Amino acid sequence: MKRVRRVLAAAVCAVLLPAPLQGCGGAETVTVSREGLGTVVTITAYGDDPADVRSAVEAAFAALEDVESELDSYDGASDISAFNEDPYRAQSLPGTAIEILRRIETLRVPDAFSPALGTVTELYGFEDSRTVPDDKDLGLAVAASRTLTETPAGEWRFERLDDTDARLTPRGGLAPSLDLGGASKGLALDRAREALRSAGNVSAAIITAGSSTVTLGTKPDGTAWRIGIEDPRDAETVVAVFQFAGEGALSTSGDYQRYFESGGIRYHHILDPATGRPAAGVRSLTIAGTGLSGLDADILSTALFVRNTGTAVAYAAETGLGLYVVDDEGRALTVPAPEASGLIVTEVAEPVR
Ligand code: AMP
Ligand code: MG
Repeated sequence: MKRVRRVLAAAVCAVLLPAPLQGCGGAETVTVSREGLGTVVTITAYGDDPADVRSAVEAAFAALEDVESELDSYDGASDISAFNEDPYRAQSLPGTAIEILRRIETLRVPDAFSPALGTVTELYGFEDSRTVPDDKDLGLAVAASRTLTETPAGEWRFERLDDTDARLTPRGGLAPSLDLGGASKGLALDRAREALRSAGNVSAAIITAGSSTVTLGTKPDGTAWRIGIEDPRDAETVVAVFQFAGEGALSTSGDYQRYFESGGIRYHHILDPATGRPAAGVRSLTIAGTGLSGLDADILSTALFVRNTGTAVAYAAETGLGLYVVDDEGRALTVPAPEASGLIVTEVAEPVR
């Protein structure tokens, strides 16, 4: 099933706040922005020798592209698309996909984060048909999404629920499909960060891809990384700032990145796996932590968006992460991270009501 994405359609929801671009604490700075991961990826890296830093940045972009070529379900040539061509046949999955599947379990969010909502998402046609799905189709696609199984040989397949339902066929029907888009960006950023680290000549870096950011090391001048969060109803306004020195990750999920309106209702792209309907109650949710991986941040922002705000608050408090939520009435809510983590979340403006 070929999916079409309008690259760059997604809004950028985390804004890198101004940082000195040169001579930061005596180190050279290299900043490169490129289209990737369905948005614009920007890497700012610091090191003594600009030529070395530049080649490390190239290696980081190559690492990002490797993840994309495995997991991008909008790319008909990716490994995930190949799996989705024949979802009922046991097949091996790339290591990146398996890592995501395992992390969903480890983070205890399989109720809220489903790797198998590809067909459910397609029913809405966010990029083209913009249709409110019919209840029966939605029910079938949701039921099918729950049948992903690992075989004893370590392969993966969906189970056929009803052989007699002709619509449960691959290609254009309601057969289930994998969609790891809620986690792959964070994993790609982790891989890019590892490429910068293993180059050995980058002392610090920040990598951002719209809604996800990871950092490596401490900025040469010792100041904190600062990441601004935009108002989900006004992209020009920064409503909160996350700051931390050293390594960490941040991810925002929002109802304003892919959506359409019909009958006065906003149908957005973050779906409740239990119903297949857009998750209610939240406009945007940001989670961040020092020592957090980009993958975990990405999975968690999507999963906690789906869960109710109370559960999200409890999860962040329990795991020592910083949380910033704008609810469906424009009210902001912050859960501060423990002081020892070094992460500070500051509300800087009231979101639009
Ligand atoms: P994110 O911006 O990281 O929250 O990811 C949103 C994307 O993840 C959507 O565009 C879908 O492709 C996919 N998705 C939507 N709902 C879910 C969900 N409940 N669990 C996992 N992936 C989802
Ligand atoms: Mg996510």
